[in-house]
Amino acid sequence: MATSLSRAGDNRRVRTLALAISAALAATLSGASQAQQAVPPCEACAEWNRPQTPYRIFANTYYAGARGLSAILITSRQGHVLIDAALPESAGPIAASVRALGFKVEDIRVILNSHAHFDHAGGIAELQRMSGATVRAMPWSAAVLRSGTAPRSDPQFGIAPLMSPARNVELISDGGTVRVGPVSLTAHATPGHTPGGTSWTWRSCEGPTCIDFVYADSLTAVSADGFLFTRSLEYPNAIADFERSFRVLEGVSCGILLTPHPEASRAWMKNPAACRMYADAARERLSKRLKTEAGSVDLAIPVAQ
Ligand SMILES: [Zn+2]
Repeated sequence: MATSLSRAGDNRRVRTLALAISAALAATLSGASQAQQAVPPCEACAEWNRPQTPYRIFANTYYAGARGLSAILITSRQGHVLIDAALPESAGPIAASVRALGFKVEDIRVILNSHAHFDHAGGIAELQRMSGATVRAMPWSAAVLRSGTAPRSDPQFGIAPLMSPARNVELISDGGTVRVGPVSLTAHATPGHTPGGTSWTWRSCEGPTCIDFVYADSLTAVSADGFLFTRSLEYPNAIADFERSFRVLEGVSCGILLTPHPEASRAWMKNPAACRMYADAARERLSKRLKTEAGSVDLAIPVAQ
């Protein structure tokens, strides 16, 4: 492969082919709404959205999500914080779960998000309408939550359904804190799955016992067909972002690990090494994915010859 690639004529042909592929991709992906309206039905959604009895995880931290999509409620007498709101159709069941736990939806002051895809942010607009909460998000995610549409820098651009736009979306920066009464959460930029991926940490205490919680964002390199993490012009920092995110999660105090898809962390949830194991597993999956992308160059070469 290396010798054939070193020939100037082949190089030109490969470049021409690459340009042709880029042009075809650009044509395929032209117009966010056009591409996004053509999304296939979400086959996993009904399974993810199965009912789940809400429960207390520890102290003032509760699980109020569906069976396969997290929604985490952190409560105080001065108001509550909700992280993630699953699918649009999850909003009603999440509100019912909040009530079943003995709290008022209207007391949710702030809604946070792991990443702005329809399966974790789809219910935000409706829960915001019910609660009057403010949404806090990092800039890339804030733009998606406000508009309901993702830009081309989203690896899943074109396959992720539109969302209802959220209002009152305020920005937060990496390392910033969100406070509601005594509840205080820290935002950690953990991009890669999307450029705006955010993990959240906070401490919950019961009597003298305190636990450091980590809500770690998805770290899977999943994309629309044609998107290459190794060569994306729209998201050129994708791999560096993933590597940075792995290091961030390796460095946090990890008493209990929670994730947007609960099954991604359930096995290690209370293992003190859980965040490192989560990052390790994600690093391994990324490396497999990148190998398949390297293979896609090999596929191009015979065509060019
Ligand atoms: Zn996602």
